Amino acid sequence: MNYYIGIDLGGTFIKGGLVRKNGTIVKFDYVPTRVASGVQVVLSDIEALIEKLTDKMNGKLAGIGIGVPGIVDGKKESVVLAPNLNWKNVPVTKRLEKRFNCPVDISNDANVAGLGEARFGAGSKYKNSIFLTLGTGIGGAIIIDGKLFEGNGAAGAEIGHMIIHAGGNPCACGSHGCFETYASATALIRRTVEEMEKHKESKMWQDGSTDKVNGKTAFSHYHDDETAKKVVDEYLENLSVGVINMANIFRPEAIILGGGVSKEGPFLSESVQKLLDKSIFAGKLGPKVEVVLASLKEAGVIGAASLNM
Ligand code: BGC
Repeated sequence: MNYYIGIDLGGTFIKGGLVRKNGTIVKFDYVPTRVASGVQVVLSDIEALIEKLTDKMNGKLAGIGIGVPGIVDGKKESVVLAPNLNWKNVPVTKRLEKRFNCPVDISNDANVAGLGEARFGAGSKYKNSIFLTLGTGIGGAIIIDGKLFEGNGAAGAEIGHMIIHAGGNPCACGSHGCFETYASATALIRRTVEEMEKHKESKMWQDGSTDKVNGKTAFSHYHDDETAKKVVDEYLENLSVGVINMANIFRPEAIILGGGVSKEGPFLSESVQKLLDKSIFAGKLGPKVEVVLASLKEAGVIGAASLNM
């Protein structure tokens, strides 16, 4: 039997899976991304993870696919820029092809996750969908007529860098006011900490000091703490601005929310749906754009593996 390796290289974790052609993960593992230790350490960690996943594998390794948090070159050999990893022009595929003796493909992490959802998950019933990952940054995938739209040189679909506030928050990419500086998990955590510091009475302090804050902290106190509610309402509004912009430009059948923050479930998707319905161009006169949650547990891993299928 043929097996495929899918690697989801994130700013926080490197996740990997041994995947079958039907999209099922048969073996899964992850290690922290040691960004501060530099490029070579991260690449060796990826190799070690692949070794572990393919150890005692009963079949053939048909390909390795890697989703990276940035843009890749048109030839799909190197990472051109990944701001959240501090990577610039890093060759990736040749080294892995030599070591594992199989085809290696790389693509943007959110593009592959969107592809995974489109082929095997929440996007499979739509021809046109936009996928957003709400994690360390915000990644995006644009699926038109069932196909991934990557832009010139595979460098497009950088939805997280759509500017939603002129002259706004500084972004790791060097620009200001990018969508991801307002609606990523990182942005949510930053705002939660800022508001906690201003409101010592907030119930969020009951969960521990600010270094314990994560993307769930404010959501979990939405109903019993005003500061938390303020942080979440502001977050939802910023997220909706990006969603409304994408809906007005593409008018897809669905906008799929994935990544860490999407674990907030129907509360998140229903809140964004309400804000979208209120402001989408032409309102009910135009076709409905559904806000749905990603359904694959590891869309990034499955989508990366599917690059070689
Ligand atoms: C990067 C994207 C990536 C996203 C999620 C953004 O900062 O520019 O390429 O898909 O983060 O990792």
